[in-house]
Amino acid sequence: MNLPAANLTDTTLAADVTARLRDVPDFPKPGIVFKDITPVLADPLLFGRVINAMSAPFRGQHITKVVGVEARGFLLGAPIALALQAGFVPARKPGKLPHRSIVERYSLEYGADGVEMHEDAILKGERVLVVDDVLATGGTAEATSKLVKRLGGELVGYSFLITLDFLEGPKRLGADKVTTLLSF
Ligand code: AMP
Repeated sequence: MNLPAANLTDTTLAADVTARLRDVPDFPKPGIVFKDITPVLADPLLFGRVINAMSAPFRGQHITKVVGVEARGFLLGAPIALALQAGFVPARKPGKLPHRSIVERYSLEYGADGVEMHEDAILKGERVLVVDDVLATGGTAEATSKLVKRLGGELVGYSFLITLDFLEGPKRLGADKVTTLLSF
């Protein structure tokens, strides 16, 4: 699968991130290899390079809102929003947001869930980027994109740190809309 490179100038970034990722077998369920990004976030230089690379394909694309998916999508999405001079919007698990919200249900690699967004989080015609740490089946990101579209936003693309290719998330989301730093 040929995904757009996140940033062609930082040639050692993919290898440097791969070296710091922690694979946690059988978490949170038997058979799942959890990609733990906390060692990457704990290294300020590497974290900054990751934010730069994940933002780069969307610079100049007039993104006005970055949606981060709970929970690790917040950690990457908020600095990417600042880098793109866009606003940040949290997409949260049901029941967490304080204001009136809209919901989409979906199934994911381990279980079923839903995602919610405040009904006034995105204005009609806004250009939106969806950010998360891992693209697995694409169910979470697809549900998030449905919320964006229901509010009248234009889904410009998705930025992931890691894509698990064997689960075919890019096919589900539209490969031309997906950028990822790493593919496994
Ligand atoms: P999916 O909806 O199947 O694409 O799952 C994506 C969501 O689940 C993201 O919010 C990820 O953070 C999380 N996720 C799924 N699989 C993994 C994994 N192997 N390691 C870490 N996070 C994962």
